Amino acid sequence: MDPEHIPNPSTTAPPSARLAPESGSWWDYVDSRDRAGGQGKAAAQSTGRVSSDAFAMHMRNLMRAPTLDVDVVAHCNLKCASCCHFSPAAPPTFLSLEDHERDLEKLARIEGVATFFDAIVLMGGEPLLHPRLPELIRATRRHLPEVQLRMTSNGLLLKSMGPEFWDAMRSADCKLVLTMYPTGLDYEALFELAQAHGVKTGVSGGGAEGGVVSHLLRTPLDEEGLQDPVASFNGCPLGGFSLQLLDGKIFPCNRGALLGIANERFGTTFAHEEDDYLELDAIRSVEDIDNMRRRAHPMCRYCATSLDERIEWRRSAIERSSGTNGSCARTSANS
Ligand code: SF4
Ligand code: SF4
Repeated sequence: MDPEHIPNPSTTAPPSARLAPESGSWWDYVDSRDRAGGQGKAAAQSTGRVSSDAFAMHMRNLMRAPTLDVDVVAHCNLKCASCCHFSPAAPPTFLSLEDHERDLEKLARIEGVATFFDAIVLMGGEPLLHPRLPELIRATRRHLPEVQLRMTSNGLLLKSMGPEFWDAMRSADCKLVLTMYPTGLDYEALFELAQAHGVKTGVSGGGAEGGVVSHLLRTPLDEEGLQDPVASFNGCPLGGFSLQLLDGKIFPCNRGALLGIANERFGTTFAHEEDDYLELDAIRSVEDIDNMRRRAHPMCRYCATSLDERIEWRRSAIERSSGTNGSCARTSANS
């Protein structure tokens, strides 16, 4: 794999040897437990029905202006067991400044882009791990002078960030959004630190517990792709409002865009079809993006959203057992 690129399912060859199921918590994540029989647990158990609560959340999300997320780093120093960016499974991977600028140039040419998105969000993985983060921040602002710009971080490295980082954040008017986990971090002190540097702050992902993410939504993935894509999408709390920019393409969601990380790590065979994304080169105006985000996609067949469950936040067991799961801490993002 090119270390500068997050893998794309359509271009990632499966590793020669698959991990044995017993080796990890992969089965917490992909519910194709009976590959030999061709019918995974998700396929067998999925009702295909959409609960009214899930549908209501889905519709609420579609009424919001979407964000465009850019994973500047694929891996993370926290490794939540529930990361829909597959960060616990990702090898150290940094978006290159050159690739970022290439995509920004194309993005800036799209009619209406300055006001269409709620924000362009630099995230990951953990963005503060990127060695050239100040340059990425400045480049984003230079190409897109009028957009709202945010960075979402878990804050673990914030105290170690140098003046160049703070200068870039302040001069680019990039809001720092912290997702607060039960890590014991003094988040209040981190907000004060950012504000002392003249940087605006916000909170992402918290529920009723003072903004701390105590639970995560887990969606089993069906490697066989036997789910009804329309039902999956209609019950999906992710798709359509948290769009992902990846390698010259805009996807309707993070999880779907980043399936290549799972393929690379676990030897799964999730695949993208052309209808799963828009090529930046082919987008004429933001209407193209708006239409794309409001419909189900072929890759929605992998998400058994009717089996969604809330799990308590915990760190991934991936380091111990080479597994991960498919949930997301950002489902209630509110920044
Ligand atoms: S949810 Fe956020 S903090 Fe947790 S592993 Fe994923 S990127 Fe890292
Ligand atoms: S692939 Fe479809 S169902 Fe799955 S997270 Fe993305 S939008 Fe939702």
